[in-house]
Amino acid sequence: MAGEPQADCLFCKIVAGEVPATVVRDTETTVAFRDINPQAPVHVLVIPKAHHRDAVTLATEAPQVAADVLREAGEVAALEKLAVSEGGPGTGYRVVFNTGTGAGQTVFHAHAHVLGGRGLDWPPG
Ligand code: C5P
Repeated sequence: MAGEPQADCLFCKIVAGEVPATVVRDTETTVAFRDINPQAPVHVLVIPKAHHRDAVTLATEAPQVAADVLREAGEVAALEKLAVSEGGPGTGYRVVFNTGTGAGQTVFHAHAHVLGGRGLDWPPG
């Protein structure tokens, strides 16, 4: 059933406290924790507590929680002082949802990457 915890899902285990993570924010519906392999000075993952395989599936199955994930991405950015108004390299941030193996998704539990703290090139790799 949509949203049910999956026994073989790493991020469900983080939600359950069975796998350690450095949590920066915790809400009723979401958890934000530092990526173990950071790609920028700030690299935080925001995940729904419920299991949905990717971001678009989450938006379809639980739109309010998808909105919670996006709002939390903004809260993390504020917490990490990635103010968008200052301008210049290292300010602002990027929210990324890798979707599908070809796009780099390795964990099939929806998650937003919040990246910042350095200049971010466009187009991305
Ligand atoms: O978008 P993708 O599915 O590749 O992102 C998964 C992310 O989860 C990776 O950036 C990886 O470093 C991170 N990860 C983590 N803690 C774990 C396992 C993976 O932060 N225990």
